[in-house]
Amino acid sequence: SKTPVGFIGLGNMGTPMARNLLKNGYPVIATDVFPESCKELSVPVMDTPADVAEKADRIITMLPSSPNVLEVYTGPNGILKKVKKGTLLIDSSTIDPAVSKEMAIAAEKMGAVFMDAPVSGGVGAASMAKLTFMVGGVEEEYHAAQELLTCMGANVVYCGQVGTGQAAKICNNMLLAIGMIGTAETMNLGIRLGLDPKLLAKILNMSSGRCWSSDTYNPVPGVMEGVPSGNNYQGGFGTTLMAKDLGLAQSTATNTKTPIPLGSLAHQIFRVMCSRGYANKDFSSVFQFLREEEGQ
Ligand code: NAD
Repeated sequence: SKTPVGFIGLGNMGTPMARNLLKNGYPVIATDVFPESCKELSVPVMDTPADVAEKADRIITMLPSSPNVLEVYTGPNGILKKVKKGTLLIDSSTIDPAVSKEMAIAAEKMGAVFMDAPVSGGVGAASMAKLTFMVGGVEEEYHAAQELLTCMGANVVYCGQVGTGQAAKICNNMLLAIGMIGTAETMNLGIRLGLDPKLLAKILNMSSGRCWSSDTYNPVPGVMEGVPSGNNYQGGFGTTLMAKDLGLAQSTATNTKTPIPLGSLAHQIFRVMCSRGYANKDFSSVFQFLREEEGQ
């Protein structure tokens, strides 16, 4: 029988991802700081990441942000306290690429291999094993990672050295954020000009303004079904997480002296939303935020 795959972080994304490993015949052992998060899957639950590392020689982590990744790998009960030589460590969280590089160096010192493999695609894509993985790390190890990642995703792309997966992910999300704000303000202007929102979306989607936020994830309630805007902006991709990703874009842009005027503005807009009650709503609630702003 196969040795178990360790999975750390069974949140919105981790739970359906781990379920797809199980579906593909990989036994899974898991842990999460909130043990309740593990209840949805019937798999053995370990107390700490170190306990997972004692039993598994392949471990996937899916955590909110850089501090959680630091804790899970290098904390007092972290993976690296007990990691076995030759273990493959795959981090699918979206974090600072500098932290990915730091984790790769720390893992190498213990004889283990660390790769960054952040994902694009939301909870729906995670459930249907349709995620896109952007993978950074030593090329010789890529095939070992690919074997597991293809169980959870439709596209697995090798990007280069460790941290480049994060770089690709940060760039994608910056464009996504800009596109979502643009779509929300465009739809709002059209509605104010007397256009029916469904008709306007239809026209945009057959014209040059079309983008993912207009045709797949429209932020205006009632325009599309099965998206967070149709469900009071519940579920999906939280505004806090988008603000975090834009913060990563901003700091990497600052470090490389790269101008990102719209990315910076998008960061500010999502941060203000977080302080005005939108933190846990899906990021497409920027449409609602703009509507409330205009009433003031
Ligand atoms: P989430 O908050 O739902 O899940 C994170 C899980 O990690 C939680 O269950 C939490 O309890 C656990 N956790 C936190 N600290 C921990 C620790 N120290 N030890 C063990 N477990 C710990 O987040 P999510 O929506 O699943 O997102 C995870 C990552 O994927 C984020 O980096 C996010 O930016 C990225 N992402 C999310 C989406 C999405 O649509 N939700 C899409 C693409 C990428």
